[in-house]
Amino acid sequence: MPLSRKKQRFDQAVRLNDELVNRLEQMNGKPYPAYRDLEGCWKYPSSLLFIDHVQNDPYAPPSRLRLRIEHATAKFPSSLYSTRHLWCSIYPISAAADNYLTRIVSVFSTETSKSSNWHGTKGGDLSIDKPGQQVLERSSITLDQESFNILFTYGFPAQGGTILGDKAAETFRTTIPRLISNLLYETQNKEELKAFIESIEDQEYHRQKIKESGLVAFVANGAVLPRASGASDKPMKGDHLVKFHSPKDLEHVFTLPNRGEIRGIGIPAGITLIAGGGFHGKSTLLNALAYGCYNHVPGDGRDFVVTSSDCVAVRGDDGRSIGSVDISPFISNLPGGTLTTSFSTTNASGSTSMAAGVMEALELGADLLLFDEDTCATNFLIRDRRMQRLISSDPITPLIFKVRAMFKDHGCSSILVIGGCGDYCDVADLVLEMRDYSCYNITENARRIAVEIPSGVPEFEARTFGVIPQRQLHPSSIPVNVKTSARGLTAIQLGEETVNLFALVQLAHESQTRAILNAFRRIRASTDSKVVLNGILSQLQEMMDRGGLNALTEEGHFDGFLARPRLLELGMAVNRIRSAVFEG
Ligand code: ADP
Ligand code: MG
Repeated sequence: MPLSRKKQRFDQAVRLNDELVNRLEQMNGKPYPAYRDLEGCWKYPSSLLFIDHVQNDPYAPPSRLRLRIEHATAKFPSSLYSTRHLWCSIYPISAAADNYLTRIVSVFSTETSKSSNWHGTKGGDLSIDKPGQQVLERSSITLDQESFNILFTYGFPAQGGTILGDKAAETFRTTIPRLISNLLYETQNKEELKAFIESIEDQEYHRQKIKESGLVAFVANGAVLPRASGASDKPMKGDHLVKFHSPKDLEHVFTLPNRGEIRGIGIPAGITLIAGGGFHGKSTLLNALAYGCYNHVPGDGRDFVVTSSDCVAVRGDDGRSIGSVDISPFISNLPGGTLTTSFSTTNASGSTSMAAGVMEALELGADLLLFDEDTCATNFLIRDRRMQRLISSDPITPLIFKVRAMFKDHGCSSILVIGGCGDYCDVADLVLEMRDYSCYNITENARRIAVEIPSGVPEFEARTFGVIPQRQLHPSSIPVNVKTSARGLTAIQLGEETVNLFALVQLAHESQTRAILNAFRRIRASTDSKVVLNGILSQLQEMMDRGGLNALTEEGHFDGFLARPRLLELGMAVNRIRSAVFEG
């Protein structure tokens, strides 16, 4: 619809919800596009309902609706969404309240669609974004000083191409008022809501405190690290579960504002190795640490597994494109004299993808890198003395020779899962062993063995790491004037090009992927001249700080299915756009 016509509808006086219901009843049997007349603002006794966009036909993506409820009506105490402690920015607290309410509405909408008995027709379901185990800032419910807004979708019901007005009328007569009443403070489980918010507050506080104590990670005693299955992010239950316990000598104690004392392992900045036999829980620990950059819902089991918010899990991503990245700290003298100080390829190997992954993470400000031998290119991780002698022309300086210089020169720590290569004992500050899912400190033993069985590491270790240049991006090279879509968690379609985000292991929710697509559009629209990648990403973060996630969408377009990505995932995604042009 032309914007002007749409604008006219929104300029109309606010109409009453009774009229909405009457109109819908009168529309019964009419052709589907008649629903369009409903766009605009409708007044319910205790809130405003905005019908922002009505779908063109029953098979199109559902229509977008928004409810605005004044705080004077909903009566949520202001402490639930404002800063109670100076150390805590408003965002996590507000996000906690938003998330809690989104979860309430999500359950409500699932129950409503289950109980709906209109079979054989299309549409009729309300739906709101469904959060996972991580508590992310979302656009589904937003609290501001005067009111809060709930963004959801509704499939206007139809039989074939004709309007089922009675069915729609029923939704707006009974379901919407029930939804509103579900959102009032008086209908909430107040203890649960308070506990939810306090837990997020504690997790946020804790993340800050571990940093101040020189730690990069913390895992609470009693934490549940394994998940219910490979396909579920819910905690494992049952007799086989072994809860986490810190080795005594590595135990740290923190006092959190709400929960009080908490004990667990503190992993100091530096190089940490997680060793152990196969199937003993190494990757499970590392995965939990990777998600430790996010807050979790109470009861997740990882709610007090906390890592630096700038930690990046790096994995092999062969086949990806690389744009003008300086990978020379790891790779030089490539065959054919290819320059590695500004390295580009449309088809990276395992090792070049890892070198680029590390350099890009450092460029984006990572202060902790996580590596799991299961998903890393071995030749990027190590080369032993024999191979060193055998192959003299290998262009790769493996991570083992650089990992300490990376920490010394750039303050970036590493935690590595290595079960197969003892050479790493030479460079590790801390060596942990996972045995039968329990954690042991074996650092002294590792040191002793390193002396007894020398490796070639001291001979080849680099003294300096090298520089980390800030690249520039040409925003106009991002193709967005084509058909674009976010496809699940790990793919974004830009016309013909599929941006593969499979290696972004810390991407936690599909709504983050949708937000990344919106960010691509924003970057494309920002300027025609080249920009520093980090600069433009910081600008996007500031926009989200100020205007929430819908600051990323087009003016006047409200999308309730967005969750905030970290600057790191945004950058990693831009780095994987094949057509994007960078300058090193
Ligand atoms: P590794 O990386 O050491 O080979 P994984 O971390 O992949 O081992 O774990 C192997 C299996 O053990 C997985 O199925 C995982 O769910 C399970 N597991 C991991 N940690 C625990 C635990 N603490 N309690 C029970 N089962 C666990
Ligand atoms: Mg493993």
